[in-house]
Amino acid sequence: MVVRTRYAPSPTGRMHVGNLRTALYEYLIARHVGGEFVLRIEDTDQERFFEGALDIIYRTMEETGLDYDEGPDKPGDCGPYVQSERVTEGIYMKYAKMLVEKGEAYYCFCTKERLESLKTTVAGKEIMLYDKHCLHLSKEEIQANLDAGMPFVIRQNIPNEGTTSFFDDIYGEITVENAELDDMVLIKSDGYPTYNFANVVDDHLMRITHVVRGNEYLSSTPKYIRLYQAFGWEPPVFVHLPLITDEEHHKLSKRSGHSSFEDLVEQGFIPEAIVNYIALLGWSPEDNNEIFSLKELIEKFDYTRINKSPAVFDMVKLRWMNGEYVKTMDYDRYKEMALPYVKQVIHKELDFDKILELMKTRIEIFPDICEKIDFFEELPDYDVEMYTHKKMKTNSENSLEVLEELLPILEKQEDYSLDALRDVITEYTVKKEVKNGVVLWPLRTAVSGKQSTPGGAFEIMEILGKEESLRRIRIGIEKLKNC
Ligand code: GLU
Repeated sequence: MVVRTRYAPSPTGRMHVGNLRTALYEYLIARHVGGEFVLRIEDTDQERFFEGALDIIYRTMEETGLDYDEGPDKPGDCGPYVQSERVTEGIYMKYAKMLVEKGEAYYCFCTKERLESLKTTVAGKEIMLYDKHCLHLSKEEIQANLDAGMPFVIRQNIPNEGTTSFFDDIYGEITVENAELDDMVLIKSDGYPTYNFANVVDDHLMRITHVVRGNEYLSSTPKYIRLYQAFGWEPPVFVHLPLITDEEHHKLSKRSGHSSFEDLVEQGFIPEAIVNYIALLGWSPEDNNEIFSLKELIEKFDYTRINKSPAVFDMVKLRWMNGEYVKTMDYDRYKEMALPYVKQVIHKELDFDKILELMKTRIEIFPDICEKIDFFEELPDYDVEMYTHKKMKTNSENSLEVLEELLPILEKQEDYSLDALRDVITEYTVKKEVKNGVVLWPLRTAVSGKQSTPGGAFEIMEILGKEESLRRIRIGIEKLKNC
């Protein structure tokens, strides 16, 4: 049997981290065994429909590399792949009526008011267990109501006695009392199916073998099992995924910045790093390796290693991982992604490639660049105390001496390339018989005005060029003279 999985998003906005993980795991389960991966759009909740959300889904699937074999824009033999189109084809109504015929579902004409009156509070939570009032309508009564155009829903008929069990591949055997299961609505009064009904019908018709979703669906699964049984269909393998929390063990939120794929991309994370990190939210490989391309994940992904305890989304770790990706990424792509940040802070004509090369191994996410390179644009108004460094054995006196001695040498120097600067300054250091730090600390301080910089004095001076380097050294000399 061909393994078939599906990602079934509701087009309600950006793709949340939890949904992306579901999509990724579905993709990996299928690809790991050479199976098929389907994209199905679940848009039956018209109120939640969000204009443009479909484009977000397509774009995110593309940017994350989760290519599907069948979907709204990739026809297969199970289409249409958009639920509202399946409604138009009458698919859900046909199957709901089939259940009515079998006595596994029934028409319900109860008014809103009557349903309201059935609400009770259990353990502080308001719940509504339908009392099967309409189950007892005769065929004639039902027909008369339908003929009169009375609004109706179709409900699942779950017996009050007995239990329902199923096996989840992560959570194990689960058994619930049927009396706890509500006669849930399958077809709503607008003729649309509920998610609860449509997912079962579609997963069956689309020959889905493994259903992967968040564990918030675990409690509804017995009702789905009853639907499979009512139709006489083989249920798929169920793989429910653990909750993802933030570092404080709260639900992920927009405020903390890790709610969606797009939010993360906007914060400067690379899609591959996000995908790699998300793969590890609830799953771990056998070895301790953590950096995986999508191809490697396909090879390694054994879904039985999914953990049922909540996964913590650790921003610090994602940042680290992103930095590892930046280090190894192809230079042209890096440039394309990083250059806008350089241009945010540097408006002068400097060698951007040199700045970019300098930054490649020194950032975690692209926006880190701005704060690290702003001194190239303008020398900050730094404190003269910065020249004093215990370990480097520098103070304001020897710093002034070094800068004053270096100034004429650097004024004479024409070649400001890295190697030439290194040669001439090393020559001076050797002649002076001092340690490198005694010369390089004051020099770097003067040309950058910063305590820590990407690269040392030579790199910075090469980028700044002769004129600006000398101007900064002269400012340093003045500062030191006046202190
Ligand atoms: N449309 C559901 C959602 O977006 C899908 C749940 C499922 O995977 O069955 O949450």
